This record gives sequence, C-alpha cells and structure tokens, in this order.
Amino acid sequence: MIPLLDLKAQYASIKGEIDAAVLGVLASAQYVLGDEVARFEQEFADYCGVRHAVAVNTGTSALHLALLAAGVGPGDEVITVPFTFVATVSAICYTGARPVFVDVEPSTLTMDARQLEAKITPATKAIVPVHLYGQMADMDEIKAIADSYGIPVIEDACQAHGAEYKGARAGSIGLSGCFSFYPGKNLGACGEGGMAVTNSDDQARTMRMLRDWGQEQRYHHILKGFNYRMDGIQGAILRVKLRHLEDWTEARRAIGHRYSTLLGGSTVVKTPMELVGRRHVYHVYAVRSRDRDGLRRVLNAEGIQSGLHYPIPVHLQKAHADLGHQAGDFPVSEEAAQDVMSLPIYPEMTMRQVEIVVETLEHAYVD
Ligand SMILES: *Cc1c(COP(=O)(O)O)cnc(C)c1O
Repeated sequence: MIPLLDLKAQYASIKGEIDAAVLGVLASAQYVLGDEVARFEQEFADYCGVRHAVAVNTGTSALHLALLAAGVGPGDEVITVPFTFVATVSAICYTGARPVFVDVEPSTLTMDARQLEAKITPATKAIVPVHLYGQMADMDEIKAIADSYGIPVIEDACQAHGAEYKGARAGSIGLSGCFSFYPGKNLGACGEGGMAVTNSDDQARTMRMLRDWGQEQRYHHILKGFNYRMDGIQGAILRVKLRHLEDWTEARRAIGHRYSTLLGGSTVVKTPMELVGRRHVYHVYAVRSRDRDGLRRVLNAEGIQSGLHYPIPVHLQKAHADLGHQAGDFPVSEEAAQDVMSLPIYPEMTMRQVEIVVETLEHAYVD
C-alpha cells in the first residue's frame, strides 16, 4: 500500500523531539500563544525572509486577517483564481468583499497575469494569487500590474512553505503572505495552525490585534477582533518541525523530479511543469490525463492512493452560486478540474515506491 501522504512516518522520525516539546508546553501552562509561539513567529519570519510573522489558528484566518489589515471590506472586490481550495474564496467573503475570478494559465495552473488587468475596477482592493501545489505564481507580472494601480497583493502561500520566485521566498513579495499548518501541508501542526507574514509594521500590528480580540493592551479593544490565536502546543511542535523543513522539502523535490524524469516521455499522463527561476516545493505532485478516473481505479486496485486537487473549481461550487458564474466562464480551470490527479508524495517516500507508482501507471493500458 502506498498512501498519498504518511503523517505517522513523519511523527515516528522525530517522536523524541515532538514529545519533549509537547511536555514542555504542558508543564509551562502557556497553552494559548506564549513563548513557544513567539519564538516560532520569529523563526518562521526568518525562514521566509520577512520582518514579521503573526501566528493564528488556521490558514483561512491568516487570509482573513491579511485582507482586513489591507483595508478590504463590504463593497470591495478582491481578485483571485477559481482553481484553488475553497478557503481562498471563503476568506474574501468573510470580509464582505466580492471575489472576482481570473482564470489560471495552463502550464502551472496559477493566476494568468495576462488576464489580470481586464478584471481590475475602481472597487478592486486586493489581488490574491495562489501558489498552487507548491509553485509560486508569476509574481513579477502580477506585482507590476498591481503596483501600477496601487493595489496590494496578498499571497496565498498555504501550499508553498519555502517555495521561491527568483530567490524570494513565498510570502515575502506581496504586502503579506498567508500560510496554513494543517497537518498535511509541507509544514504541518498536530492540529490546526496558520501564519500571516509581512514586511509592513502596520500590517503586522493590525493583524496581531485582530487575532486577539482587537486588543493592544488587555481589555482595551481598539478593533472589532477575533479569537484566531495559535495554541502553545502547536507553536512548540511547529518549531521542532521547522528545523526539519528544508530536508523534507529537498526530499519532496527529489521525488517530484524523479517522477518527472520517469514519466517524461509518458503517453499515459502529462507531468507538471517546474518553471526556471522558481523553487517548486511539491506540496502536490499533480499529473494530467483525460482518463484520470480510469487511472485512479488502476492505482487503487494496486493499493496506491491518489487525490484530486481539485475536482470542482470554486466558481462552479454551489456555495458560491450567488456570484452568478456558469460552466465555460473559466475554461482552463474547468479543464484542469476534469483531468488533474495527485500522486503520492511525502518526504519519507522511497524512490522504489516512486518507481512502483510509475510502473503501475505505465502498465495501466497493457494486459
Ligand atoms: C490549506 C489551504 C488553505 C486553508 O488553510 P487552513 O489552514 O485549512 O484554513 C487556503 N488556501 C489554500 C490554497 C490551501 O491549500
């Protein structure tokens, strides 16, 4: 059996460190925020190459706070992509703003910068590119257009811890960048977690207040805030895991590259594209096939798990029917939703397992 990811293998590899970190928090009684979370914020800010990091309870909360701190609210428009996890769009809706979609480009399935400018109106208050699967969107083009209109860019980096664009880390290019530490993400908590990073003192200060009931000092509520604080135990666990993240990322990259080499000439699936100048961190290794459902059945019969990221683009989800979209509005996203499938990838996966997945795919239509 080859799973899509293996969180038990990761825990087993660092059990001693994790257990000690958890016991330390239990003894300290700093169960919400506290010293471990503060240290994790500093270390994660350094990792991203930014000045500030604000720890929160989920990636969705990080997006919500980054949008609010950028001044987004009712009556505004926020541009994003329909080919993403639904949380990107939900966070925009939480602010009262209207999500406006721009399609993705076919090679990377990230925001198509050539279609961006046409979607900008006087109501546009933010642009949220998504660094899908662990590869950053075309930040030079997106930033150039955004800057020419004075519109802030907020990076949805929830799948892109440690990804780079021309040497700049994910989260460090926009006004702010948002990360998720959901267990299956490249850096995952043992529960929920998230982080908003920024170089702006103002953004950081506002997000810090908003995550903790809008208070600057205890019981002095300056803003209408939220309870979006990170748990002490998650902060301590994430500090341990952050020390391993580069090794895990290099392991993911090696697996991704091995898949791409072995499947390079395949007539069965199309491999993902890693563009020059971008460090892809392979949160997801997604191949494309018009017969992906058939291929998934073949893999499943051999005990190999696969995933779908994502089978329905957000503009066609019932929950967002109020936006008034229909099939055909974003053809590149819709085609991807029909033909992408995610293959197993996790740092502890062996190259032999990669070969087995590839051999199973390559023999799908033989015998
Ligand atoms: C995981 C994810 C989120 C949401 O993060 P949570 O921590 O689950 O709230 C947002 N956007 C993208 C692209 C994600 O993959």
